[in-house]
Amino acid sequence: MRPESLFPLFAPVGSLKGVGPRIAPALERIAGPLVRDVLFLAPHGIIRRPRRTLSEVRPEETATILVTVEEHLRPRSPQQPLRIRTRDGDQRLDLIWFGNASRGLEARLPVGAQRWVSGKLERFGLDLQMVHPDYVAEANGLAEIPQIETVYPAGAGLTARMVRRIVHSALDRTPDLPEWQDPAWKTGRGFPSWREAIRALHSPQDDFDLSPAAPARARLAYDELLAHQLAMAQRRAHRRAGAGLRLIPAGLSGAVEAALPFRLTPDQLTALAEIRGDLASGQRMSRLLQGDVGSGKTVVAMLALADAAAAGAQGALMAPTEILARQHFETLSGPLEARGVGVVLLTGRDRGPARREKLERLASGAAAVAVGTHALFQDEVRFHRLALAVIDEQHRFGVGERQRLLDKGEGVHLLSMSATPIPRTLELAAYGDLDVSRIVGKPPGRTPVATRAAPMTRLAEVEDRLVAAVLSGAQAFWICPLVSESELVDLKAAEQRARDLQARLGGRVGLVHGKLPGPEKDAVMADFAAGKVKVLVATTVVEVGVNVPNATIMVIEQAERFGLAQLHQLRGRVGRGRAESACVLLYDPPLSDTAQKRLDILRRSDDGFAIAETDLELRGGGDALGLRQSGFPDYVFVDPFVHRDLILAAGDDARLVLARDPGFTSPRGEALKVLQALFDWRPETGMKGA
Ligand code: ADP
Ligand code: MG
Repeated sequence: MRPESLFPLFAPVGSLKGVGPRIAPALERIAGPLVRDVLFLAPHGIIRRPRRTLSEVRPEETATILVTVEEHLRPRSPQQPLRIRTRDGDQRLDLIWFGNASRGLEARLPVGAQRWVSGKLERFGLDLQMVHPDYVAEANGLAEIPQIETVYPAGAGLTARMVRRIVHSALDRTPDLPEWQDPAWKTGRGFPSWREAIRALHSPQDDFDLSPAAPARARLAYDELLAHQLAMAQRRAHRRAGAGLRLIPAGLSGAVEAALPFRLTPDQLTALAEIRGDLASGQRMSRLLQGDVGSGKTVVAMLALADAAAAGAQGALMAPTEILARQHFETLSGPLEARGVGVVLLTGRDRGPARREKLERLASGAAAVAVGTHALFQDEVRFHRLALAVIDEQHRFGVGERQRLLDKGEGVHLLSMSATPIPRTLELAAYGDLDVSRIVGKPPGRTPVATRAAPMTRLAEVEDRLVAAVLSGAQAFWICPLVSESELVDLKAAEQRARDLQARLGGRVGLVHGKLPGPEKDAVMADFAAGKVKVLVATTVVEVGVNVPNATIMVIEQAERFGLAQLHQLRGRVGRGRAESACVLLYDPPLSDTAQKRLDILRRSDDGFAIAETDLELRGGGDALGLRQSGFPDYVFVDPFVHRDLILAAGDDARLVLARDPGFTSPRGEALKVLQALFDWRPETGMKGA
């Protein structure tokens, strides 16, 4: 239930003064549907309007100037602007208005009058001009022009000035809320109260106030992190409270392991031991297995599934695409069936009697392991005794989807898998409700991928080499990113690239993109996996974990636009066999210094975690990292880089609160309920609510 003190903040934006039915939708687009969201709309700049004489100002400066009106130059056609010529001392300044904006201005600026004008100056020949001044005031009206102004995101028909006014009317409604931060921590950090912080957020005095490190912004970020960490800690406590089926590893999984054609790496062994510890604990497991593409997560998952089968229970492995599910099925079914463990593949393609038979085998327990896609959590799917759910590429599923699978049994253990290397410092924010196992080292026998960067000017050369390699049997990925505003433009570019390559390689070139229907995409991917298609041109990050050992070339266009973690993941699709592999990062010159450094790291390092960490440092957070796509929360105030120490502090704080006052009954607990309601991280979903 929402505390009453928050009601004003959870009113719709339409309830604010000056926000009618015309403005409300635009405001919702910029900020969100609630008064709270308007208050949370952080300004991104300030405009100063210092008083200046014309002899002091320079072009491109914004200033407030006292001028004398000399002459009105009326437009001679509708296309021409109204030009009002003014003077300050012996310098001239033309004020300019186009179209409707010029209405009534001649009367407000009569010839001979003195007026204050404020706006940005531009050079006009030898003189200066000001197009659409922001303010015009009478000679005694200087006070009407603010000296400093806050700049908000605008657009969708809303000007920055309108947003400013609306924010101010929202500020008038800001209630005082009980303090939920620990007093010693708050004092130590020099944090203002919540209300002061919101006010300060909207009245920055200098650039520092705009930065995430400013005390007001840091406080709000901490609040947000704490609310999130509390929600995750609660979810974790809730999961743990439920008993998990006790699964003790038995001979079966040992036999499966012994039959593998290779030895597990030390990291795989550690991860497996951690998982087995959880499975045997009697508490429900909530674990994330992190490791680069190709690091060998699937084998670990297979052995855990064997543990479930050995205990007379069932396990499920869910993957985001048909082709991945199929690959997993092929990996698992041999070794498991050989030990008498029935494995079923269930995807959206299964229909009719065949599907019924599979469902029957799961419901009766005849099959101990299910591998599949979204098809696995559909209502008709029932298990005899589901004990372990493994979710591959977990961020590709919604929280609700994962839950539906877990709900198919009682006390089901969860093993999530992810190939997105999240920097260690951010792990708590991304996966605070999970225990994490990492596979860092790679299986032996991999040849590192030779990585180089080349400007687009060398495209022809890259194509030549690729064609030659393909003609002698190699397979290649060619990635064209989605970068422009219009997906259509990007798609055209990819189609063109595919045509160029088809002109030389014919039917050996396939194209997949986001607009392609699922089954067609799967068909092209399957042809590629089977070696019928030699070059796969793709607009987006295709099937993350797809395993095509024969693919040895990866070309990525506009590589400078990608997050490094993404580039690293893409590169991970090649270099899986024994053959030498190459990755070419094509970029549009010139490269900025940072971009150059970023591509350099990829050339030098093959450790996904190290790469992600360096990327975070080089780019300093922001969404440029592409973190959001990988399941990082959509924070309002938190900067993943600047606030990384706050992430850790909030995690500790949350755990302590839950240990001491799990019912939130202390005064601080009561205040924390307000905080949680304010940010509204839904404990059950981990998502931010409306
Ligand atoms: P991931 O799921 O992490 O992307 P996979 O489990 O698909 O990686 O492993 C990629 C490849 O490496 C598979 O062909 C697998 O058989 C092989 N592999 C896994 N572990 C080892 C190991 N310890 N030694 C050698 N090869 C391994
Ligand atoms: Mg995988």
